[in-house]
Amino acid sequence: MVLKLHVVQAFHGDCFLLEYGTRRSEFLLIDGGPEDTYDSHLRDVLAEIHRNGHDIARVILTHVDGDHVQGLLKFFENLKSTQQRDSLEVGGLWHNSFSGFMARHADEYRGFRDLTNPRILSEMGIARAVRTIDEGDYLTKLATNLDLSLNEDFGGKLIASDTAQVVSLGNIKITILGPTTKQLNDLREQWYQWLRLAKMSVHNPRSFAASRSTVPNLSSIMFLVEDGENRILFTGDGNARTIIEELETNNKMNDNGRLHVDILKIPHHGSRYNVNKTFFKRIIAKKYIISANRRHPSKKTLEWLVQSIKENDQGAEIVVTNMTKSIREFLQAHAPDSYDYRLTLLPEENHSIEID
Ligand SMILES: [Zn+2]
Repeated sequence: MVLKLHVVQAFHGDCFLLEYGTRRSEFLLIDGGPEDTYDSHLRDVLAEIHRNGHDIARVILTHVDGDHVQGLLKFFENLKSTQQRDSLEVGGLWHNSFSGFMARHADEYRGFRDLTNPRILSEMGIARAVRTIDEGDYLTKLATNLDLSLNEDFGGKLIASDTAQVVSLGNIKITILGPTTKQLNDLREQWYQWLRLAKMSVHNPRSFAASRSTVPNLSSIMFLVEDGENRILFTGDGNARTIIEELETNNKMNDNGRLHVDILKIPHHGSRYNVNKTFFKRIIAKKYIISANRRHPSKKTLEWLVQSIKENDQGAEIVVTNMTKSIREFLQAHAPDSYDYRLTLLPEENHSIEID
C-alpha cells in the first residue's frame, strides 16, 4: 500500500499531490499554487504521473485565493485544450464555489460587478477581491466544460465538516474538518453585508476604501487522511481552533487530547495568526510541511513548533519549500541539535519533494 506526499514548489502558495493506492497508485491534487506554479513545476509533475499510467482521482481546491487556485486554472485550461484521448484523467473536483456558497445572492453580486467599472472597483480597493471571486467561478466553469463532477462525494452540495460523510478512496479515508456549516453561514452573512455596503458606495468609492471594509475570506476545506495507522493532516489556510474543535468532534484525539500524525501541513504558510503553541502541543507530527515564500512563515510559528518538538521529546523533520529571511533568522537562534529537529529544504532544481 502506498501513502506518499509530493510537495510541489508553489512559491508563496500551496500545491500538493497525495499518492495512495493498493495495487495501483492514485493521486489527489490539492491546490495548484499561484499562476507560475503550473508552467514552472506542476505541468512536469503531472506529465510524469501520466507517463507512469496514473490519473488524478480528485482535484481539491481548499479555498479560492490566487496562491491556491491559479495553478489549477492553468491545469484545467490545458486539459481542455488537449482533449486527447490519452490525456490525464481527472475523477472530479472538490470546491466550495462562490456561486454555490452565495446561492441566491450570486446573481446580485454579478450584477454589481458587471455594472461597476474597473476603475471604481480599484478605487474601492476591491479589484483583487473581485478577481479572486472570478477565478473561483472560472474554475467551476472550466470543470463544467470538462464534464468534471463537482463535490460528487458530498451529494453535489457545499463541503462542510458537520454534513460531510467520511469519503473512502482506495486505501484512504478522508474526514472533513472544516469549514463548519456555521462558518459558511456566518461568512455568507458577512458577504451579503459587504456586498450591500459596496453597492451603496459605488458613487463614493473612496469612502468605501476608507471604511476599510475587509472582504470576508472564504474558509478553507481542511481534512484528515487516514490509511490504517498512517495519517496526514491538510489544513489549507485554516485556523488552529477549528482544526482542534473538529478533531475533537470527530473523536480523533487520543486519551491525552492529542493526535499523532505522520505529516502535518502547517496552516496558512506558517502565519502566526493561524496557530498557537497549544496547537503544536496537541497535534504531533513526524514531519511538518511549510509551503511558503516571501513574508511567510512567521518566526513565531517556527519557535512554537520547535519548542513543542523539544517539550514533547519527539524529534521531527520540518520540510520547507523555500529558504526565507524568517527561516534564516530563526535557524541562527534555534539550532536543530538544541531542539531535536531537522530542517529539509526542497532543492532548487527539483519540481517537488517526496515525503512518506
Ligand atoms: Zn494561501
